[in-house]
Amino acid sequence: MKLFNFLSSDIAIDLGTANTLIYHDGDIVVDEPSIIAIHKVGNKVLAIGQQARQMHEKTNENIRTIRPLKDGVIADFTAAELMIRGLVKMVGGNSRFFSPSHRMVVSIPSGITEVEKRAVKDSCEHAGAKEVFMVYEPLAAALGIGIDITQPNGTMIVDIGGGTTEIAVVALSGIVCEQSIRTAGDVLTSDIVDYMRREHNLLIGERSAEQIKIEVGSALSELPNPPADYDIRGRDLMTGIPKEIKISYSEIAYTLDKSIAKIEEAVMKALENTPPELASDIYSNGIQLTGGGALLRGLDQRLRAKTKLPVHVADDPLKAVVRGIGEVTKNPDLYRPLLVM
Ligand code: ADP
Ligand code: MG
Repeated sequence: MKLFNFLSSDIAIDLGTANTLIYHDGDIVVDEPSIIAIHKVGNKVLAIGQQARQMHEKTNENIRTIRPLKDGVIADFTAAELMIRGLVKMVGGNSRFFSPSHRMVVSIPSGITEVEKRAVKDSCEHAGAKEVFMVYEPLAAALGIGIDITQPNGTMIVDIGGGTTEIAVVALSGIVCEQSIRTAGDVLTSDIVDYMRREHNLLIGERSAEQIKIEVGSALSELPNPPADYDIRGRDLMTGIPKEIKISYSEIAYTLDKSIAKIEEAVMKALENTPPELASDIYSNGIQLTGGGALLRGLDQRLRAKTKLPVHVADDPLKAVVRGIGEVTKNPDLYRPLLVM
């Protein structure tokens, strides 16, 4: 007998601090930044996702942009609910026949508390879910990159998202040990904002800093294939006038060094806490990097040097988790042990 008969209207949501992705009917149908723009009068939703991000840091007093998640969990309940509702609406496109009342499979960080789980469940229910199932992110990420997590073979996942870096060893459909730190993509971005102000007297916004990180970000001060210098504009703190300067990747590597060292330390600690038989698996399987932070230049190389282990950057690391929970909706009976109710 089938325990879970998932329907084609069921959806899987990777509700991330930085990005929310939705899988439905065999495809990733929504991939938007986790941000919402709200008008002060009547709390009207003005924009969600990419459109709201365009407004971020450019708003007037009547408009607020909110990132409802912080450190992987819901920080603003009302905004989260409105955002989920809006993103789920996008799944149906313009179809009038798409009912938003589905069963939802949502990914959650492994270190989440009961209260935080409740917040995810409630937000999804208020946004129209009939039933909500949750799956821990490291398991979803492993599944999403094609690892058979049901086997007694350990894999270490290092998922570097916006708010948190989650490190976990998964085996036999469960998490054996995990470590989570609040040093991840957002911290790297604010390191760049601080550095530009301190060293170049240049005030830049979060979006420009993130762009620098993507264009010339690096975990190593010497790269074999370095990116070209990048022009960055902001406000000169001395004159108050907009100006443009050139930034090189090695300057950014220097800026990010301390935070990356924290990620390294957390990986080392997780390795120390890994039971010996699994340590032996990890010695041969290596470490899998997922999440947007995995794309930082030279990070894999740096972790390889530190741990002396094979380190792999997942294909399309930003989509690992949503692919994993998508698999769960396709094969609910097989992956039933993964569901957190
Ligand atoms: P979350 O699951 O928390 O929403 P994601 O896995 O979507 O996070 O990753 C988002 C983070 O990855 C952001 O901090 C973003 O700046 C960062 N990121 C995306 N692309 C790159 C890149 N090419 N280099 C470095 N960081 C990146
Ligand atoms: Mg994530």
